[in-house]
Order: sequence, then structure tokens, then C-alpha cells
Amino acid sequence: MARKRTKKYKKFSNKVRFIGVSVFLFAVFGLFVFYQSRSIPELGDESLVTVLPQDLRNVLGIKIGPQLFEKQERIPVFLYHYIEYVKDDPGRQKLTIPPHILISQIETLKDAGYTFITPDDLMNDLSGKITLPDKLVILTFDDGYMDFYTDVFTILKKEQVKAIVYIVPNLLNRPNYMFTFQVKEIAKSPLIEIGAHTMNHVWLRGITKAAAEYEISQSRKTLTDMVQLPINSFAYPYGALDQQAVNLVKDAGYTNAVSTIPGIVQAEQNKFFLYRLRPGYRTGEELIKFLAQKDFKPW
Ligand SMILES: [Zn+2]
Repeated sequence: MARKRTKKYKKFSNKVRFIGVSVFLFAVFGLFVFYQSRSIPELGDESLVTVLPQDLRNVLGIKIGPQLFEKQERIPVFLYHYIEYVKDDPGRQKLTIPPHILISQIETLKDAGYTFITPDDLMNDLSGKITLPDKLVILTFDDGYMDFYTDVFTILKKEQVKAIVYIVPNLLNRPNYMFTFQVKEIAKSPLIEIGAHTMNHVWLRGITKAAAEYEISQSRKTLTDMVQLPINSFAYPYGALDQQAVNLVKDAGYTNAVSTIPGIVQAEQNKFFLYRLRPGYRTGEELIKFLAQKDFKPW
């Protein structure tokens, strides 16, 4: 009788243990999924918040006209996110350009006589420190995704062209993003400039001054310590900027910043919100025609 009861009890307690462990594992998995979805923000929806140049001029109270520029240059600054082959993720597909298209775009620009520079080079040119050739182009890559290391860096080295990558320190070492050691490695290449993109990829427009200041200046300090090089260039996450953000970027010691405002004329007056263009899948003639436009519409 007693033995029977013990057996029954054992069976029962095994069942309870099994259910307990399953519930525990399920909860851990659920928490993991929840944490992942919360901690990795949806990036790249800049298209939703693009500010037209005129609006921005009003916001910043800046009057811009070609006649006001001391030195203005028609310099395309291309905005890229992922460079990879994407199959079944339409959200990500929109932010992606396959590697062979990037290569083709680089070759088109090379054939058309463009020199590839970084924002730091552009500032040195605008301030007269150096003199660069006439036809310049800047390739910018936002967020510091892993494919910058695996695909883009490889392509840049092969093509021997320069580019900048804007890093978000607190997103490093997470799924989909580069590891710190990879950022240190690419920073050593003369082809790569490292720029900052806030600590946590935050929306800077309209947030408290203290929060914006932390995101803007701490990302510069963290990256400077990480790569042991001056960090001079900044990119506003989601292209969201206001007068406060622009002032804080200047105060933090950056020499320039990129926006998501479509345009091609870069000058002293817009060095803290340089215009950028999405090249899309255009290559060859189509890309050159695209760059010859007078007005660039929001994408
Ligand atoms: Zn971003």
C-alpha cells in the first residue's frame, strides 16, 4: 500500500516537475523575445520624418540661398542601411541594397570621375585646410550593422574607396550589429571614418536638453575612447533634429552632422545638417541622371 502510494506520488511529482520546468523555460523564452523586441529599436524609418528643407529653415531660423554661400558644392551624400540579400522580410527589404548594386554604384561613380571622401574630408575642404578635386561623393552607412563588416568593408577595400559608418555604442555586440572589436578594426583602415549616432539610437527632436546632451556628447566620448581617434561627425537618428539638437552637436565638439533632408548642395551653412540622398537601386546612366536633378524630392 505504502509503496504504491510512493510510486504514485513519484509519478505525480515527476509530472509536476516536468510542467514546472516547461513553464519556466517558456517564460524564459518569452522574456527573451520580449527583451529582444524592446531592446532593438526599429531603425531606419527616416522616410516617415523627412523634413523638407524649407520647414527646417523655418525651424532653425536660417535663411539659405545660393547667393549666401561662401563656398558651396554639389556633393552627393548617399544614405545606406543594410547591404545584403534579403528574402522574406519586406520591412528590411526596404532598407536594403544588395551588395552587387552597391558595387555597381561605386563603379558608376568611379567611371564618372567622382572622388570618394568622408565628412571629415569635406569639412577640411570647406574650411580651406585641404583642397579636394571637383567631383566628390560621400557614402554613409547608418547604425553599424554586422553587414558593414562582412559585406561593405570588403567591398570598400576591394574598390579602394572611402566611407563613413555611424555607430550607436549601446547597440554594439547585439544580434545584427557589429562587435566592438570589429569597430576597432575598421577604424584603423584609412578608408573608414567612424561617426556617432547617439548612445541608444534615440529620437532627438523635442526631448529634454539633459537627455539629448547625454546621447550626443557621450556617444562622441565613448567612441573616441573605443577607437582612439577623434570623432568629428554625427548622424541624427531617424533624421529627427531641432535647434536644440543642432546646438548640442556643435557644443559637443563635432565639426559636422548629416540629416535625412534630401538635397545635394553642401555648404558651410548646412554643415550641421548635411543633406543626403537615397540612391536606391539606380546604377549607370540612371544614377548619373538622378544626381543631375535640380530639386530632390523627399523619398
Ligand atoms: Zn539610424
